[in-house]
Amino acid sequence: MLAQIGDEAKLLAGGQSLIPLMKLHFANPGHLVDLNFIPEISYIKEEDGALGFGALARHAEIENSATAAKLPIIHDCAAGIADVQVRNRGTIGGSIAEADPSGDWATVLLTQAAEVRCLSPKGERAVSLNQFITDAYTTVLAHDELVSEITVKIPPKGTGAAYLAFKRAAPVYPTASAAVSVAMEGDVCKEADIALGCVGLIAIKATAAEAALRGQRLTDKSIAAAAEAARAAADPQSDMRGSAGYKRALVVALVKRVIEIAARRARGEQVEVSHIYA
Ligand SMILES: Cc1cc2nc3c(=O)[nH]c(=O)nc-3n(C[C@H](O)[C@H](O)[C@H](O)COP(=O)(O)OP(=O)(O)OC[C@H]3O[C@@H](n4cnc5c(N)ncnc54)[C@H](O)[C@@H]3O)c2cc1C
Repeated sequence: MLAQIGDEAKLLAGGQSLIPLMKLHFANPGHLVDLNFIPEISYIKEEDGALGFGALARHAEIENSATAAKLPIIHDCAAGIADVQVRNRGTIGGSIAEADPSGDWATVLLTQAAEVRCLSPKGERAVSLNQFITDAYTTVLAHDELVSEITVKIPPKGTGAAYLAFKRAAPVYPTASAAVSVAMEGDVCKEADIALGCVGLIAIKATAAEAALRGQRLTDKSIAAAAEAARAAADPQSDMRGSAGYKRALVVALVKRVIEIAARRARGEQVEVSHIYA
């Protein structure tokens, strides 16, 4: 249908981003192609050492899924998005396709081996998440292409990951957020992935912060060095959620906390995470 109708067509998933934009007349599609009539793309499965999320899997379904809970960072993300009404309708595929700089999923999935499966009349292709989102509200999707699935490799034992956001209230987007994954061997961090959300036009991979942890024992000093490197990587705008300086300070605090939680999870501890509210 996308190919038949052309530029006038827009996909509708949960409608939690698109409908508000249409109400504001920022989006004026001539036709809506409703994905909700395709139940086959609403699933959560474990296959070949990876979790697969059908594009239409709702945030609430992921939040309550025992399969998704195998990766606690996925639960941290799904359970913390907005309020229950938004989570009941909003989908992981819609969030990734929307590429909202304040969205939670991209930040989390950037620390995981995540791939986006894209489908069009020409066939299917898998794009790694760091190549899928190219700018704010911009992805590599062609007009006649849709997101069909997001896959996340289950990491080996000894790896732990966590996601924390700082929010003014539940139904709003975060002011700043951080996702961390660490692979530990004893006290030593063998591998680290750190991503920052809401402090740039897209989620930022804080590579200098990762380098500050890699091969190091996790001590207050190495964690503080990583958090400072994350502050330098952040590129926030001052807006109604806070000044750029305030958001950088939040990044430091969030990254420190998330590294500690991720390391505890890597050791096998069950740690519940809840976002921090102002
Ligand atoms: C009050 C409120 C608070 C919110 N707070 C947060 C928050 O804290 N964190 C957060 O991450 N999000 C938040 N959201 C957004 C929410 O997560 C949305 O669910 C999400 O951004 C879009 O998903 P959707 O399924 O609703 O997509 P839709 O609104 O239906 O679609 C969004 C865009 O993606 C396209 N699209 C949808 N599905 C596909 C697909 N499979 N393939 C290709 N293109 C597709 C649509 O054409 C459209 O352009 C909030 C929304 C509201 C209304």
